[in-house]
Amino acid sequence: MHKPNILLIYTGGTIGMVKNPNTGALIAFDFDSILNKIPELRLLDCQIETISFDEPIDSSNMNPEYWADIAAVIGDNYHDFDGFVVLHGSDTMSYSASALSFMLENLAKPVIFTGSQLPIGDLRTDAKENMITSIQMASLQKDGEPVIREVGLYFEYKLYRGNRTTKINAEHFQAFESLNYPNLAESGVHLNVNDEYLWRTEEESGLIVRTKMNKSVGILKLFPGISEPYIASIINSKALKGLVLETYGSGNATTEDWFIDLMKGAIDNGLHVVNVTQCSGGSVIMGQYETSSQLKSIGVISGKDITTEAAITKLMYLLGEGVNATDFKEIYETPLRGEMS
Ligand code: ASP
Repeated sequence: MHKPNILLIYTGGTIGMVKNPNTGALIAFDFDSILNKIPELRLLDCQIETISFDEPIDSSNMNPEYWADIAAVIGDNYHDFDGFVVLHGSDTMSYSASALSFMLENLAKPVIFTGSQLPIGDLRTDAKENMITSIQMASLQKDGEPVIREVGLYFEYKLYRGNRTTKINAEHFQAFESLNYPNLAESGVHLNVNDEYLWRTEEESGLIVRTKMNKSVGILKLFPGISEPYIASIINSKALKGLVLETYGSGNATTEDWFIDLMKGAIDNGLHVVNVTQCSGGSVIMGQYETSSQLKSIGVISGKDITTEAAITKLMYLLGEGVNATDFKEIYETPLRGEMS
């Protein structure tokens, strides 16, 4: 029997941090020491190889250049491994999992992001379970084929579709939620995989690694009282090519003329504006209320039930790929990696 080969990619995060004895602040440390802290890894029924960022980072320092590095590691090792586990700080993990889902086109192997709320050396750490089960999830095979063939995020007994997740808690071990899509798998006495929710690429074309992410994007969250000069200063910036607009409820916004005029002017000048909801769950339905009808008619893109994390990384990806203005809205509104319903 072929034992699955798993590549563990360490980028940083609490999972591998130690306390600076002088300041008490958590700082990243070297990866070999992490492996020594989990002798149980040797008991797993797979071959594990590891690769680490030269300088592990707190995920607050994550950026598209690092995403490209992770994507390149996966691309370069794609044929030699059956699955990949990315150890990553939890703070921006949902952004990275979303970004990687777009960057890895035609992915047909598991890429599982995981991390922890407490460092691996801590007595009550959640790191061991998260890491061990992520490796097991990445090792799952049926008829010699990987069971998971997408970018997942495993945390506290649940495997989620990565681009559907949001970090919702900085205290609880259950730090993530996927409110608009069911769990891909759960870990209890057995590993239960929910086959019907797994992503399957249409064609068996090979992996294409796409690393051109355009950073000329922004997120604007509406609030009652938001002012015209504030919005104008953001959307009239020449550096902005795409904007995620976080609206109320099912995609609603103020109907005041100045707001609609500003948005229309920016869209007519080529800005791509995506409507996502500020609610943690549910979907944008433009036209359901009068307060979203005008957004629809001026050409705002519907983000449907996408998360803000997936919305911003999808914008970076499509702009980076140079999708032309005529097709942009239609392509954006199409689910590319299961990121929207
Ligand atoms: N600040 C850490 C990070 O995101 C938190 C964590 O790993 O959970 O890198």
